[in-house]
Amino acid sequence: MIDGRFAIDYQVHSTRSHDGLATIREQCLRALEMGLDEIGFTEHKDFDPADPAVGYFDYACYSREIEQAREEFDGRLVIRKGVEIDYQHWFEEEIRRYLDAHEFDLVLGSVHYVDRMTVMSPEYVQGKSAYEAYRRYFDAVAQSMESGLFDVLAHLEYANRRGVPAYGEYDPAPYTQQLSDIFGTMLRNGAILEINTAGLRHGAGHCYPCEQHVSLWAQLGGREISIGSDSHDPADLAANYTDAADIACRNGIFEVCSLSEGTRVPRSLVRSADVTAV
Ligand SMILES: [Zn+2]
Repeated sequence: MIDGRFAIDYQVHSTRSHDGLATIREQCLRALEMGLDEIGFTEHKDFDPADPAVGYFDYACYSREIEQAREEFDGRLVIRKGVEIDYQHWFEEEIRRYLDAHEFDLVLGSVHYVDRMTVMSPEYVQGKSAYEAYRRYFDAVAQSMESGLFDVLAHLEYANRRGVPAYGEYDPAPYTQQLSDIFGTMLRNGAILEINTAGLRHGAGHCYPCEQHVSLWAQLGGREISIGSDSHDPADLAANYTDAADIACRNGIFEVCSLSEGTRVPRSLVRSADVTAV
């Protein structure tokens, strides 16, 4: 528990990702120290041959380390085996085959590249208005959710990481219809919306997505959320967890999803102190 609420971090990377800075064991030790109930490892799995990290992820080795950690931390910490898939539509069939052949507790769908360019990189923004640049990004997110491949939409509005430095303050207003359509697709496919706190560390000024879009998710009937820090370093584990939980609760979402091999259990985000006070 953190702040008297059920506490998870469902976007965590270890040295089983090319850019992780700590082992699975080190992240688990930090999770115990903080009082996390569940830690969800979501290592990067990339399919783009142009990506230098494409061959890095090793499923067998990862599974072995998860098993070892489950034995060591048995009864003290729940450990989920997840993956963060970089989605680009031309790899969709390859991703589908991969997921059919490998087991995970949670599968995150992420968009980092659009039109084969890092989203909002200098090359990407060249000649595009802010509207065009964000619209293309949301088109790619829409495709990722239409694929039906993912349990969770990871870091929606990640484009802001570089979009804010490129275009200045982000105005979500022009994208409401696009976001409504994406959320409609997710609700039909049973996908979960992640509140990712890395935006607060990246200087975007808000979580991914911004609170307006969490509110839109709730207005459209979305109740299932996940919370993740995108920690690559134990120092960032569960960073701003209570901020993310507060955003959910302010918008009428009082539970976070616990995922295990296809099952989902809602867990309370309401502080135990508030429950006993009622
Ligand atoms: Zn990511």
